Amino acid sequence: MRKDTILTILILLSLVLGVLWGQFALFDIAASDEAIQQAVRPYQEFGDLIFIRPLRMMIIPLVFVSVVVGVTAIGDPEKLGLIGGATLVYYFTTMAAAVLLGQILVNIIQPGVGVAPEEFRASAELAYATKQANVEAGQAGGVTGAFQNLLRDMIPTNPIEAAARGSTLSMVTVGIFFGIALVMIRDAARPVIAVFEGLFQAFIKLVTWIIWLAPIGIFFIVAAKVGQTGFQKLAGPVGLYGLTVVIGLLLHAMVTLPLLLWIFGRTNPYAYLLRVRKPLLMAFSTASSSATLPITIEECQMRGGCSKRASNFVLPLGATINMDGTALYQAVAVTFLFQMFGIDLSLTQQMFILITAVLAAVGAAGIPSAGLVTMAIVIAAVNKSLAAQGHAELPMWTIGVILGVDRILDMCRTAVNVWGDAVGARLVTRLAPDTETDRADGVA
Ligand code: ASP
Repeated sequence: MRKDTILTILILLSLVLGVLWGQFALFDIAASDEAIQQAVRPYQEFGDLIFIRPLRMMIIPLVFVSVVVGVTAIGDPEKLGLIGGATLVYYFTTMAAAVLLGQILVNIIQPGVGVAPEEFRASAELAYATKQANVEAGQAGGVTGAFQNLLRDMIPTNPIEAAARGSTLSMVTVGIFFGIALVMIRDAARPVIAVFEGLFQAFIKLVTWIIWLAPIGIFFIVAAKVGQTGFQKLAGPVGLYGLTVVIGLLLHAMVTLPLLLWIFGRTNPYAYLLRVRKPLLMAFSTASSSATLPITIEECQMRGGCSKRASNFVLPLGATINMDGTALYQAVAVTFLFQMFGIDLSLTQQMFILITAVLAAVGAAGIPSAGLVTMAIVIAAVNKSLAAQGHAELPMWTIGVILGVDRILDMCRTAVNVWGDAVGARLVTRLAPDTETDRADGVA
């Protein structure tokens, strides 16, 4: 059996065992929150130590080096502009399509209609209290605030500090500018570019080693996640809401994105999905696009046939900006909560949700639960428009209603986020394929 097949089987096995262990050995519906946290903490910490920390160690250096290598391989700044433009169009149209799909589904299924919110109030308020500070901080400046933060991140005053803070976006922009400068100075840059090529290959090598830690790490991480939530919470109206999100994610991942890949990428989408299965499994297990990024880059190039020119740049940017799953989830979640409160949303407010859900997903970091926090921005925007018309607003504690199932939905939406990035890398590869020299130089 091939090494790659063995690894996939081991990862799947550890995922299934993790779910079973979390559900049957760790989760206890009768236990207090405190007791559950205590039971899962050692699992969380061990998984983090053995797998997530090594992965995160790679993110910042790999992003910087891979963007520089991608930009210098593209060479021509005009072509870079074209590729950048196409990438952004792809990100925003697919996120908008995901939100629209979510809105259609939640309006057809109507998981919140007829549900009495007061029934959930006590437990929801309690759950919300644990997240309140985060949500309020995320919501503070609204959409504008989130964008200001994004722009500030894009132009760091001190790249070393930004790197130390773990800002992927800063590394992307600094990498783009540095790469363009290298292209401009031509011959003088040749040794520097060669160093970056070498560093890139070394980092990719390290990632191929780290992937072998996945079968151990995933068991512990998934057991901790499922142990905290338990599948029992997926019953009742909250379960129907969760099901709406999952149906939307599946349709987006298995129909919308594959159609794009088939029509514009001339690629068999399902064969490609199988080839990039590892990052998708990692994203599902870790609920973090950023932690998955090193593996996404490595697998899309080594197995998915993506070019360095495209994926070195589309994937790092996508891990922070392109979040189809998160955008879809936010639209469904917000509409569900408004339905629960019997607040009818007009077409204008639905449009508000469409726009703000895309922006809030862009503003969400590629880490667990980030989408839940920026979702408050969507609620606040709709509330503002309701208040302007003298209608009742949605109280923020209602977020507590969906907190119980958020971990499991986070895993699902993160897998779709990463799949969206991988599809983008493959599509842009058609615009920017590698040349023979690129391939000889690097790993593509
Ligand atoms: N966990 C997601 C990600 O890393 C973001 C979210 O919470 O929706 O892509």
